[in-house]
Amino acid sequence: MRLRNIPGAEETLRQYPVFVANPTLLKGKWREHFGNDNPIHVEIGCGKGRFITTLAERHPECNFIAIELKAEVILRAAQKTEMQTIPNLAMVQYNAAMLSDLFAEGELTCIYLNFSDPWPKARHYKRRLTYKTFLELYRSVLATDGHIELKTDNESLFEFSLNQFANEGFQLHNITFDLHQSAQAEGNVMTEYEQRFSERGQRIYRTEAFATP
Ligand code: SAM
Repeated sequence: MRLRNIPGAEETLRQYPVFVANPTLLKGKWREHFGNDNPIHVEIGCGKGRFITTLAERHPECNFIAIELKAEVILRAAQKTEMQTIPNLAMVQYNAAMLSDLFAEGELTCIYLNFSDPWPKARHYKRRLTYKTFLELYRSVLATDGHIELKTDNESLFEFSLNQFANEGFQLHNITFDLHQSAQAEGNVMTEYEQRFSERGQRIYRTEAFATP
């Protein structure tokens, strides 16, 4: 996602109660941060944050953490909270390639990958968030019954991801090649990208991948 550079975005972010400025200090301690033992769900590459903020509102019985690489983008997500403290939501600016800096083994229940950058050139496949090295990272921080939920408009990325999941021993469930026309459409929370692509008539692909067969 490209947004114009916002001068002072990092400083501005610190004013938002949902923003966690030093997330590595919470590795293995996120339950203490949230003050409960509820399951922890993480969205990687949250963009402007509609998906994760909506889920946090709908599901007070779970904790949610939004991770985003770019300060100017996660600032837009933080702005959605209007300076409120949302007890079950945290936002973090970090590179998912270093996810194990943030989470201890088995700390997470679910990881969402929504409309991740497709990196269409073969020489860039390693940057895809479903490349095998990322899947190894995800498995290490997911609980044994944990899983990943993936949505994308990009057929090539979807096929690639299904293969990577299968090769890495993930168990695939609820695969759909047209989410909005499927039984899973009910209760689906649209991301900003999803809304844009579906308005253009593009199909949305989705799967769930469980860490332990
Ligand atoms: N999920 C949002 C949606 O569906 O509207 C945003 C999709 S956008 C195409 C992908 C987002 O992932 C961008 O905001 C980008 O900065 C973020 N991203 C890409 N690589 C990342 C990484 N390694 N760690 C964290 N975020 C990343």
